[in-house]
Amino acid sequence: MGLAPEARGARRGVTPLGARIAALIADTGPITVADYMALCLGDPEHGYYMTREPFGSAGDFVTAPEVSQVFGELVGLWAVATWLAMGSPPSFILAELGPGRGTLMADLLRAARLRPAFGAAARVHLVETSPRLRTLQEATLGGTAVAWHGDVASLPDGPAIIVANEFFDALPVRQYVRTDGGWAERMVGLDTAGRLAFGLRPVSEPPASPLPSSERARARGGDLASAILEVSPAATGIISRLAGRLARDGGALLAIDYGHEGPAFGDTLQAMRGHAFADPLAEPGVADLTAHVDFAALAEAARAAGATPRPLLGQGEFLARLGIAARAERLAAGKDAATVAAIGAAVRRLTAPDAMGTLFKVLAVSQSGLALPAFDGDA
Ligand code: SAH
Repeated sequence: MGLAPEARGARRGVTPLGARIAALIADTGPITVADYMALCLGDPEHGYYMTREPFGSAGDFVTAPEVSQVFGELVGLWAVATWLAMGSPPSFILAELGPGRGTLMADLLRAARLRPAFGAAARVHLVETSPRLRTLQEATLGGTAVAWHGDVASLPDGPAIIVANEFFDALPVRQYVRTDGGWAERMVGLDTAGRLAFGLRPVSEPPASPLPSSERARARGGDLASAILEVSPAATGIISRLAGRLARDGGALLAIDYGHEGPAFGDTLQAMRGHAFADPLAEPGVADLTAHVDFAALAEAARAAGATPRPLLGQGEFLARLGIAARAERLAAGKDAATVAAIGAAVRRLTAPDAMGTLFKVLAVSQSGLALPAFDGDA
């Protein structure tokens, strides 16, 4: 299959996984961006989450739970209030998707101790593909009984509270491009020197189902020359399954991530290495790969599955409504000046519009008729 080369990097794909991907492409042809992402992140031997230590100042990026314990504690208060709104079921599934080091769940459970009945009712389930991170999560969560799953499909039935921070951005996206000759899918192939390179493969139309209908109409209008449209069948598939169970068995889900509110056109595939942006094709398995989350597509998938998505909140607004200022003040009480300053800086980082406050957004989805804290009036 011919590939029309786009931009080219100098030395692409030179990692062991890069060599394997190049060999695969040489044998069987170009692969989709989604397949490329899935290999880079999840390859059992060389995948990023299987081998690397992504988190913290020595890693590649810092996530909200790693910025401050206040983040997980407030999500814990949200979970307790949600459980109370659900009628305090005596047993429920408390699930986290992509728990990383396990920090969020540990902080959540600690804050939730103010309602011991919550902890007694919670059955903790973690959805995590990386054996290495499962070991870390087990260590962080100490004595808590935890069940792991490789996929949301095996979570047990029953009422559930599900949280996910920076999980959906790690799910593979397919990229479609509107060219003068019609729609094409962006692929990863090889250039003439045998290095990984982006190219385009003509398709008759981008897949209809994950696209909000208004965007389908716009896209057909042809006024979006060269715009890249990203869809994540993996993300909408997971939300759809979870929303279906919330509608059936009750409960709520909180997805916190960076992304856009409405369907947007643009290439958001990004690689991060050592806190800096990198070429997504340069170091397969060594750099983190993510894409912005299309929250409109997630909300539409949730609604189609029978659950109720709420309007998005910015992370800053969400944390403010849960009382981050008071919580930080209590944490700082009696501490030395350096600690007080560090807590203030962490709160700023989580909430300020020029930090994580607005780029990061919070989507809540629940069974219908549930009053969710921070989202529904005085709940
Ligand atoms: N929530 C954590 C970690 C975010 S990184 C935090 O905020 O710090 C993404 C996490 O999702 C990692 O734990 C990674 O191993 C996991 N992950 C990525 N893709 C996954 C998939 N398809 N299924 C399950 N877990 C996945």
